[in-house]
Amino acid sequence: MNLDTVIAKIPDFPKPGILFYDITTVFKTPAALRFCLEQICSHFPAEEIDGVVGVESRGFIMSSLYAHETQTPLLLARKAGKLPGKTVSKKYALEYGTATMEMHVEDIVAGKRYLIVDDLIATGGTLAAVAHMIEQQGGEVAGIFSIIGLPFLQYEEKIGQYRIITLQDYH
Ligand code: AMP
Repeated sequence: MNLDTVIAKIPDFPKPGILFYDITTVFKTPAALRFCLEQICSHFPAEEIDGVVGVESRGFIMSSLYAHETQTPLLLARKAGKLPGKTVSKKYALEYGTATMEMHVEDIVAGKRYLIVDDLIATGGTLAAVAHMIEQQGGEVAGIFSIIGLPFLQYEEKIGQYRIITLQDYH
């Protein structure tokens, strides 16, 4: 399956100079979505993963499919202020300003192995923040899965220590 033919590219969104990779076209193409699910399941067999962490918001979709297919617990990493329980949080730098990710503290158990799932890795800042929260609670980051990778943004500098699987890279 050539995902590149399915992924829509929108120039100058959300602002001039940004080429936005739109994966809603993957979600509405059943064969492409099935391909992504087969890939994530083959790279991360259920017996190696204790919990799958979906990153708000487009990471929720593939992580949910994986959780259902493999019967792995699904945990959410959300933007600050959305989770009702006791949380662990990590602030990180954006191009302009900062953002904060949160997880329910009880979702991360020391010694357990977590797979983190998002739609696209740009700078790696978001995933580094999620990985930090998992490790801070004593969990192990078993891997990172994303449909798209933009390696020219040097995400390896932030998350290169982890096993990263992307299905379609743009250079
Ligand atoms: P980062 O923390 O820099 O790796 O940014 C990751 C998040 O920003 C991803 O979850 C994407 O949803 C979003 N994002 C960043 N750049 C793009 C882009 N060019 N096209 C689509 N989404 C993007």
